[in-house]
Amino acid sequence: MKIVRFDGGRIGLVIDGTVRDVTDAAGVEPREWPPVGPVRLIAEFDSRRGALEAAAVTAPPIPLDNVELEPMIPWPNKLLAYPVNYRDHAAEMATAGLASVQGFFLKANSSLCGAGATIEIPDLPGREVHHECEIGLIIGKGGRQIAAENAYEHVFGYCCLLDITVRGKEERVMRKSYETFTPIGPWITTADEVPDPANIDMKLWVNDELRQSANTRDLIVDIPNMIAIASAATTLYPGDIICTGTPAGVGRIVAGDVVTIEVDGIGRMSLPVADSRYGRNAVFAKPYQFVRA
Ligand code: MN
Repeated sequence: MKIVRFDGGRIGLVIDGTVRDVTDAAGVEPREWPPVGPVRLIAEFDSRRGALEAAAVTAPPIPLDNVELEPMIPWPNKLLAYPVNYRDHAAEMATAGLASVQGFFLKANSSLCGAGATIEIPDLPGREVHHECEIGLIIGKGGRQIAAENAYEHVFGYCCLLDITVRGKEERVMRKSYETFTPIGPWITTADEVPDPANIDMKLWVNDELRQSANTRDLIVDIPNMIAIASAATTLYPGDIICTGTPAGVGRIVAGDVVTIEVDGIGRMSLPVADSRYGRNAVFAKPYQFVRA
């Protein structure tokens, strides 16, 4: 099942390239604040699945191009991220700070946006803003101290995810928490449609140039162990999102670019890039030169 959020908090299923509005069957109130309906939907998914499928059969098909795609989970309990989780990226960053020794960090939930958004480059003279091509892992059943061998039972689904980053030496959390710095989408593909999560190809282009290409078999901390480590330190809740890490090839994006990410069997989305008038602050006042190792 491919689940989307669109047009002011409505919930849809994507079938044959069209959206079927199943908002009522999902039990979600559009335009509610805070927008926690999607988290509740994921928690109640097993009991609602039949009603969603039935509603989709009778709902009129809406062309995908006619809807504004929004982040499926705009208000999760947590947005976690693993840094340096592919060896080729560790090499280009010349760092020994692998995910296996650093663990996870958090990004601000307010950095989430959907496939219909524009990536905003903050007003930071002397700084580069980079793309990171990742797979978003969505928790279904929550838990604490989840064993790696049971971890897949806790996965709700997967999506394309961009971990947009200001390069520098300051706190990762601040450099990665700007508005629109975590596009997710275009929808969530449920785990039953992903036969082998340890063998998923992903690619990222800026305009027509292929910048990143990798497979989840090259992860340093694999998906089950990401869940085991995260749930050892925190309680995972339905709808929590894990940024699983980026491979080599990160690079600068500027206003006017279009970033396209494709994750095999999961989805593809393209977001334009534009300048923002916000963002300048004392912490990022000093320029930083990114040098690829
Ligand atoms: Mn990342």
